[in-house]
Amino acid sequence: MERRRLGSTGYTVSELGFGASPLGGVFGPITSEEDAVRAVREAVDAHGINLFDTSPYYGNTESERVLGKCLSQLGDRDAYVLATKVGRYGRDEFDYSAARVRASVVESMQRLRVRRLDIVQCHDVEFADRWQIIAEETLPALARLRDEGVIGAIGLTGLPLSVYPTILEHTAVEVDVALSYCHACLCDTSLADSGVLRYLYEKGVGVLNASPLCMGLLTERGPPPWHPAPPALKAHCAAAARWVTEHAMECTGTPVTIAELALPYAVRCVGDGRIASTLVGIDSHATLSKNVQALRAPLNERLLQQVLRMLAPVHNQSWPSGAAWA
Ligand code: NAD
Repeated sequence: MERRRLGSTGYTVSELGFGASPLGGVFGPITSEEDAVRAVREAVDAHGINLFDTSPYYGNTESERVLGKCLSQLGDRDAYVLATKVGRYGRDEFDYSAARVRASVVESMQRLRVRRLDIVQCHDVEFADRWQIIAEETLPALARLRDEGVIGAIGLTGLPLSVYPTILEHTAVEVDVALSYCHACLCDTSLADSGVLRYLYEKGVGVLNASPLCMGLLTERGPPPWHPAPPALKAHCAAAARWVTEHAMECTGTPVTIAELALPYAVRCVGDGRIASTLVGIDSHATLSKNVQALRAPLNERLLQQVLRMLAPVHNQSWPSGAAWA
């Protein structure tokens, strides 16, 4: 697996990262914890995946707990780069205060069974008061933890792309990582189109692209019931998924699903090498294998161009998230 520099953090991360929110049951129950242990071990040992991303929010701390159990069986702490988050917790529960940041980091380390965290990100900053995040509380509290060596790097995550320049232009804290989601995939390339990717890259901020399957929209199974996409986007993605399943054989000679097209597209075709890693959600050992294989297979141009045509009417459509403060 190719490794890339993560901005100025000093970390080198695999081009495909292990998104651990499904381990918290976010998309449905997992096969078993034994299967999750196998997925994490094979990701590291067999496929060279070294980036893992989670949050206390995913499954109400369940993702961190299961991932901690899996990682503890690897032995070598230097074999992986571990990212989690602060600020977003249970359903509609947000707390970006300095006191909560410190307590949250300690709790995450306990659940993840580690003594240090490599990356801690402010989770979905569009739900926070901007001055609390920027100036007074969240980022300064994370910077103190970085100075103390408890965490390696500080990040931001959020849906509206404007949050990144807005925060970076107004904070004295050095932000190391930006995690954007659902904006660098088959139906949405706005991370690159908006100029935000170039802006971050030129500032030396390491960029992570999450949700290359647009949180399930670009899968045969389709999105979970909570998916916030507007109906037209859901309908176009579902039609494209059906079309791929029905026409893959005649185009490629083998069965291919839309996910197997969407993943390599996000990793290879978006961002001109400015994205350090693409985080895909892994719920099982079988899903891991499918994604590693999909990344190795050649992209079928005919299939890809037809799907892009089908998704063109909803290209870069998104949905509202948080307050419109950015
Ligand atoms: P995703 O686009 O990666 O899709 C995940 C869904 O697709 C899951 O149901 C998964 O089981 C399924 N899937 C994965 N590979 C598949 C395949 N080959 N075929 C069929 N189905 C497949 O969405 P995601 O999980 O939300 O994003 C990946 C990771 O990025 C998350 O786990 C999380 O770590 C991170 N993330 C962070 C934020 C944030 O910080 N705000 C938001 C979204 C995602």
